[in-house]
Amino acid sequence: MIINIPTDSDFSIHNIPFGIFSSASRGKRVGVAVGDHILDLVAVAELGVFDFDAKVLNQDTLNDFIALGKSTTAKVRTDIQAWLQSDQSPLAKNENLFVLQSEATMHLPVSIGDYTDFYSSIEHATNVGKMFRDPENALLPNWRHIPVGYHGRASSIIVSGHDIHRPKGQTMPKGADQPVFGPSQRLDFELETAFIIGKESVLGEHVTTDKAAEYIFGMVLFNDWSARDIQKWEYVPLGPFLGKNFASSISPWIVTMEALEPFRVAGPEQTPAVLPYLAHEGASNYDIALEVSLTPEQGEEEVICRSNFKYMYWSMYQQLAHHTVNGCNVKIGDMLGSGTISGKDEKSYGSMLEISWAGSKPIKLKDGTERSFINDHDTVTMRGYAERDGIRVGFGHVQTKVLAAHS
Ligand code: CA
Repeated sequence: MIINIPTDSDFSIHNIPFGIFSSASRGKRVGVAVGDHILDLVAVAELGVFDFDAKVLNQDTLNDFIALGKSTTAKVRTDIQAWLQSDQSPLAKNENLFVLQSEATMHLPVSIGDYTDFYSSIEHATNVGKMFRDPENALLPNWRHIPVGYHGRASSIIVSGHDIHRPKGQTMPKGADQPVFGPSQRLDFELETAFIIGKESVLGEHVTTDKAAEYIFGMVLFNDWSARDIQKWEYVPLGPFLGKNFASSISPWIVTMEALEPFRVAGPEQTPAVLPYLAHEGASNYDIALEVSLTPEQGEEEVICRSNFKYMYWSMYQQLAHHTVNGCNVKIGDMLGSGTISGKDEKSYGSMLEISWAGSKPIKLKDGTERSFINDHDTVTMRGYAERDGIRVGFGHVQTKVLAAHS
């Protein structure tokens, strides 16, 4: 190995995720994460080792690189894996190729044209249904037939490390007869992943479940910030709006589907059987351990949720097949969120709404304070990784601090 990779690193030789970074001496450009370092692909291209126009690497986003197609991007990944492991490789003896991650700034990896969010965890949808509708009939009649989703807002998607201010909005407090305006009292996170589209479809075309994998470049961790009190008052009848679109945070490294391939697992059984256009043969879920931690302003970081992407009822292939079945087209860089990923037991619930059961069961933190929702100056961190047979492929983290509402 021409560079040391810590054995517990998310960014092992098996991963090679793509991102956009800059440093004191390097403008925004494409890099890959390797252990604690970033391999600068613009500098690598100067060695003349790539057979495509290196201009696509010297960009503010990955969109043009991704547009080269998987035949190219997957080869770049396997070439880098081989080069990192050979003392004879073009990368050996050239220290200018690597930048320490601690000395770099990460940026949004793609220009996101459109963002869609699903609602595909049966445990999450059941919990929400129990709290707000009918404990006996928690799932709505369409839920097992349609990967329910809505169109979100792309402009407010931010990369890990950006602070957000508590959103303000209109709410209807319990027992009140008039709505009020002010800072949200029920600010929440949603533990999600998202996938990035890597191939365009044309208007009118249906991307079938069998073809969906060709259209998915890779995945990121996704915190879909939600203001529950604003959401509750506004969502009837058209669904989420200002309770959702003030910010959504993603991790900076896009982990490719090639890197995640060894971690495929079967999804839950779907009953009743889905309509034929949503059917898919083979393992279409991924075993990715996920966790959320909370850090109070002067306190210690503590994990408040451990979940797994493999619990998802609807797969990414089904989500994409459903999204395009009416002819809606997707573009490179579009982002599709999984929906909150909750598991069966209470410790795997992927939002404060569920963890505190709508505020009725606050959790106690190590510093003695309680939380039903997220306080000002709290930092929320999500991590995710897949591990099997000594192979580890991780996402790093997405971390966001909540500041007080603008006055
Ligand atoms: Ca969501």
